[in-house]
Amino acid sequence: MEYEAVIGLEVHVQLQTETKIFCSCSTTFGAPPNTHSCPVCVGMPGVLPVLNRKVVEFAMKMALATHCEIVPFSVFARKHYFYPDLPKGYQISQYDLPLAERGWVEIAINGQAKRIGITRIHLEEDAGKLIHDENRPVSYVDFNRTGVPLIEIVSEPDIRSPEEAASYLKKVRQQVRYLEISDGNMEEGSLRCDANISLRPRGRKDFGVRAELKNMNSFRNVQKALEFEIRRQTALLLDGHEIVQETRLWDVAKGVTVTMRGKEEAHDYRYFPDPDLVPVEIDNAWLDSVKVELPELPDAKCARFEEQYGLSGYDAGVLTASKSLADYFEECVALFPSPKIVSNWVMVELFRILKQENLEIDACPIPPAGLAELLKLIDNGTISGKMAKDILEQAYDSKKSPKEIVEEQGVAQVSDESTLSAVVEQVVEAHPKEVEKCKAGKTKILGFLVGQVMKETKGQANPQKVNELLRKALGP
Ligand code: ADP
Ligand code: MG
Ligand code: ZN
Repeated sequence: MEYEAVIGLEVHVQLQTETKIFCSCSTTFGAPPNTHSCPVCVGMPGVLPVLNRKVVEFAMKMALATHCEIVPFSVFARKHYFYPDLPKGYQISQYDLPLAERGWVEIAINGQAKRIGITRIHLEEDAGKLIHDENRPVSYVDFNRTGVPLIEIVSEPDIRSPEEAASYLKKVRQQVRYLEISDGNMEEGSLRCDANISLRPRGRKDFGVRAELKNMNSFRNVQKALEFEIRRQTALLLDGHEIVQETRLWDVAKGVTVTMRGKEEAHDYRYFPDPDLVPVEIDNAWLDSVKVELPELPDAKCARFEEQYGLSGYDAGVLTASKSLADYFEECVALFPSPKIVSNWVMVELFRILKQENLEIDACPIPPAGLAELLKLIDNGTISGKMAKDILEQAYDSKKSPKEIVEEQGVAQVSDESTLSAVVEQVVEAHPKEVEKCKAGKTKILGFLVGQVMKETKGQANPQKVNELLRKALGP
């Protein structure tokens, strides 16, 4: 029996607004505990939450980017549960009337485009953080995070493999980053993912019983947890057992998922509309004002790069992976209008250096103008491509411009004919045997002679010119 995985993801994204969702406390990360809290976000009696308009606009942006329908009238609900990091005893969320519904995200899988449906996107507040003392039987609570705005993006069970799940998550992260509504950092918890997974015999239409996986804080861990879960559920089904619906935790150290709670212990959240908050009403004027603020999104930018710059789909995809990389490329092309040469230098040479230093393009000390300048120096014959690679490294280390480096070190390529002719003559005289062989038709030897000239000129001779001069000197 062959089984097929059915996967649906619930993704929480922390929104990068300056203040919290229902009060004016700062959302800045890393402040001393409980310095970003007030009576509203610690749930004192008698306070009234007031919705942050920016939060709604950020969520609208994601809804538009994922082709969702924005619900003109959505409602906040109280989701009740008890936990020490939830001071009110309920979380303000949205339930039966979410902000947005029925969208999709496109992923590429084996070169094929596939749409993953979005069921809903809703707004909610984050909970606080518990800190457990390892030495004493006490726990501390930090309310800086309570009330930090989140959107929850729920996908349809359209995902069929751990790779597709990772690809979907990366796309979601790319979009929130393009929209500048979140830093999308999984390791730091600004993007969190719960994964629901069930198996069914291949060809069957009905879904099987699912497990919900929690506690995965990287793309790799989501993928590994799902892979483990497929193995676990397959083994059970092949043995004739039934899958029980439950929530399981991913244990990173052991590489396994373990039971956290079963269906019987599932929370009854007793949702009801929050009487302190008016419904969110979104009219066309508001929607339009947000639409005009939308940047060019990854898919559109990638298609434009292919079209406008004649790049392959692969190259366009790499160069539009982040908005800053795409901007870097375009600024460079504006100054040196040969897109293919620029894309090669960015994707090969610049990436190699950045990778060595583990840097993102934003932190690259060579500005787009610096790379363009370097390419111009190759183009006008001042330096060779080989010298350029060296100068790029130096520009990286010294933060000097390629031109400055060339001027300071006098490393400019020598194309001057009389200078080169003298060296060519010298090399021809010094290597009579090789010259004979070459004349006798062993043209491979020509490369050796060129090499000798390059050596004499410390690599600064224009190789093309040297080639020309040598051929002339050796005769037909
Ligand atoms: P809950 O409220 O318990 O989290 P939802 O109906 O909101 O349940 O579904 C949560 C997620 O589970 C969604 O992403 C959905 O696509 C996914 N899902 C639902 N049924 C299945 C199933 N049988 N197998 C895998 N995923 C599923
Ligand atoms: Mg759930
Ligand atoms: Zn507050």
